[in-house]
Amino acid sequence: PAEPDVTALHHADLAELLPLPSAESDKYRRGVVGVVAGSARYPGAAVLAVAGALRGGAGAVRYVGPAADAVIARFPETLVHTGPPHKAGRVQAWVVGPGLGDAWDARRDLEDVLASDVPVLVDADGLRLMPPAATRTAPTLLTPHAGEAAALLGTSRAEVEANRLRSVRALAARFGATVLLKGSTTLIAQGTGPVRVNPTGTGWLATAGSGDVLSGLTGSLLAAGLTPLDAGSAGAYLHGLAARRATGPGGTPITAYEVATALGDAWADVLD
Ligand code: AMP
Ligand code: MG
Repeated sequence: PAEPDVTALHHADLAELLPLPSAESDKYRRGVVGVVAGSARYPGAAVLAVAGALRGGAGAVRYVGPAADAVIARFPETLVHTGPPHKAGRVQAWVVGPGLGDAWDARRDLEDVLASDVPVLVDADGLRLMPPAATRTAPTLLTPHAGEAAALLGTSRAEVEANRLRSVRALAARFGATVLLKGSTTLIAQGTGPVRVNPTGTGWLATAGSGDVLSGLTGSLLAAGLTPLDAGSAGAYLHGLAARRATGPGGTPITAYEVATALGDAWADVLD
């Protein structure tokens, strides 16, 4: 039989994807995730990305950027670095983009991270600054919403919304990357193979900053050793579950920070 175009993520598959500690674990072996995010204008994006990263199972989170004070005020466990990313010390995966702005130093830091030989997740402003067709050999995961996907493809948001499956595949082919296309149903695609569809989530996730939490979370899963396809799948799944936990049975408005906080409950649901 022909390979299916799409496959749904099943709850039962999730527990196997999640990186759990073992007797041999130490924080470096569990993975260090580097987060390049935030700017004077958007310090909160850095806080939210770090919040997601701390809940993603990596052993430590290293933050690089101008919002260190805001990050440390909320998360004193974060390791802070102020120079260029490649001088930050050991990092097993990078997240670059949330709230980064588009100043020259944002572009420089993106290029620095893309030049590394570890997995990189690019989101938000990082996507706007992406070179037209990246030629990385290490795994790359792009996490656009429909508007960002449209800009990358040189088309309109409506066109992407009307052709989500084709769009996510086109982006994966164009960038030689794994692509997670966000929206009411999130799709995760590679150059070949079926596209994964995430069944979790709630419309209340359409709120400022929720994507920043997802990128930190998913980057942390990458640092813990998951492939971009599995990290994207597990990240989207947990993020949607956390949002449902945060919004409660009645479905009330939620903030992105509350989604990050509810990620612990989402892990518990999956491991149950
Ligand atoms: P961003 O656009 O980067 O802030 O990310 C928004 C997050 O909310 C992504 O995880 C989306 O998949 C999710 N999201 C946005 N709109 C909806 C919706 N209508 N239903 C469910 N999830 C959504
Ligand atoms: Mg976003």
